[in-house]
Amino acid sequence: MFEQGEQTGGKMNRIEFDSCVFDTGPTLITMPFVLENYFSSIGLTLADNLTLCKVEPACHYRWSDGSSLDLPFEMDDVARAIEDFAPGNGAPVSRYLEQARELYDLTKDVFIFSPFRGFREFWSLKNVRMLPHLHRLRFMSSLHSVHSKTFSDPRIVQLFDRFATYNGSSPYLAPATLMVIPWVEIGLGAWYVKGGIYTIAEVFTRVAQENGVRIHLRSRVESINVERGTACGVTLTDGSIIAADHVVSNADVFVTRRHLLGVELDEPTNLSSSGLVMLMSVEKADHGLAQHNVLFSDDYPGEFAALATEDRPRKNASIYISRSSHADVTQAPSDRENWFVLVNAPPKGKSNVHDQDQISSWDGHAETQAQLVLEQMSSFGVRPVVRQMMIRTPDTMASEWSSYKGALYGSSSNSMFSAFLRPRQRSSDVANLWYVGGSAHPGGGVPLVITSGMIAADLILSSLST
Ligand SMILES: Cc1cc2nc3c(=O)[nH]c(=O)nc-3n(C[C@H](O)[C@H](O)[C@H](O)COP(=O)(O)OP(=O)(O)OC[C@H]3O[C@@H](n4cnc5c(N)ncnc54)[C@H](O)[C@@H]3O)c2cc1C
Repeated sequence: MFEQGEQTGGKMNRIEFDSCVFDTGPTLITMPFVLENYFSSIGLTLADNLTLCKVEPACHYRWSDGSSLDLPFEMDDVARAIEDFAPGNGAPVSRYLEQARELYDLTKDVFIFSPFRGFREFWSLKNVRMLPHLHRLRFMSSLHSVHSKTFSDPRIVQLFDRFATYNGSSPYLAPATLMVIPWVEIGLGAWYVKGGIYTIAEVFTRVAQENGVRIHLRSRVESINVERGTACGVTLTDGSIIAADHVVSNADVFVTRRHLLGVELDEPTNLSSSGLVMLMSVEKADHGLAQHNVLFSDDYPGEFAALATEDRPRKNASIYISRSSHADVTQAPSDRENWFVLVNAPPKGKSNVHDQDQISSWDGHAETQAQLVLEQMSSFGVRPVVRQMMIRTPDTMASEWSSYKGALYGSSSNSMFSAFLRPRQRSSDVANLWYVGGSAHPGGGVPLVITSGMIAADLILSSLST
């Protein structure tokens, strides 16, 4: 395996400063059974390798009118908490979660856990049981339109709309099929991993090495070599050529095709969002926050419209704050906290690691943007005393991980056809070339990325036996 970075993990990575430990990407894990399945597929157990912890409350939400809601971890407590906060919305939330569970059960084997070959497979005999339920897939309505018809309180609409951002999409454009996201978080739980989320990457790396995988760090692939339409290895930037029977690319699919295969491609028009991340060591203090927190902007439609039209996030964008030191003493000394602050940003960073000289809309603007975020936090009564800060922009995402323009999940789900158009594991034009990761089927987020790798592994093994 060839990784251009200093350590394995990609977006799931770890940075340390001021004696604090920071995850750089994922801060919560959903669908823990995917991790269980991964370990059991190689004869190991999740419990022997990782400690998953419940996060209580699951999230602290705060609005600009001063109201706030702590959403409980246990699903059975969610409707009651919402009813107390927004009378009349508890029963609709219960009904909504039940519908979302049905939708997940109906779609998961087709859209998530199988290789899924697009429209043709969707209409095939094996999915015939889904046909009478097509209306329940809610392709034709936006996530926001379903939420605004279901909940009478605009704050509850906004709370559920936010789940579209879990794969870099807009609730005003993405189909209501994405109701499966709140279901997996609320119904199946959002978990923290003791020692930090990066522990998952560390354990996966160890397990891979114990099973014979040789990992070469600081080794960037310059091109994928193809002979007579079949992938036959890679060339590294230092000129070495490595022969292989199969090539699996975990890099962004668009970047793989344009830069590593040299395919001429039009600019993508449906990129997922990127992010402005501020990692901050702060003085320990009581701001009334939980481990996960969201400070909601009071112009959500404007915030998402700006992601499509502007270069950088709006002044009053919503803010996510994760403080894993709240639950895990290994992440910061007793007098400070490790804040991970994320604001959704347009995917308009430098286009990739190969092009560092490009001018980006972020050049010279990161500090100003970070200052705006701190001012916005202050308007919610959150005024941390910052000891040290590291700012990471879409340029950082593009250069460290070669994500095109810093988009965090490849293409967004901002159209009813997104799930059908996402690149599959098997390359359609080069034999023995496979795509895995968040920009490939079934999509972004840790459990789906692990699933994409497992689907590719199954396909490669079955191709070897035919
Ligand atoms: C700020 C942020 C917050 C997130 N929050 C969550 C969350 O809470 N929960 C969740 O489930 N998900 C979250 N995600 C999404 C999740 O991190 C990603 O979906 C997942 O980690 C992506 O994995 P990947 O393997 O597809 O891509 P990557 O992690 O980007 O891995 C690709 C790897 O390929 C390497 N590479 C690329 N090109 C080359 C080349 N030419 N040669 C050699 N190596 C190369 C890169 O360096 C990188 O290590 C978040 C992501 C970010 C950035």
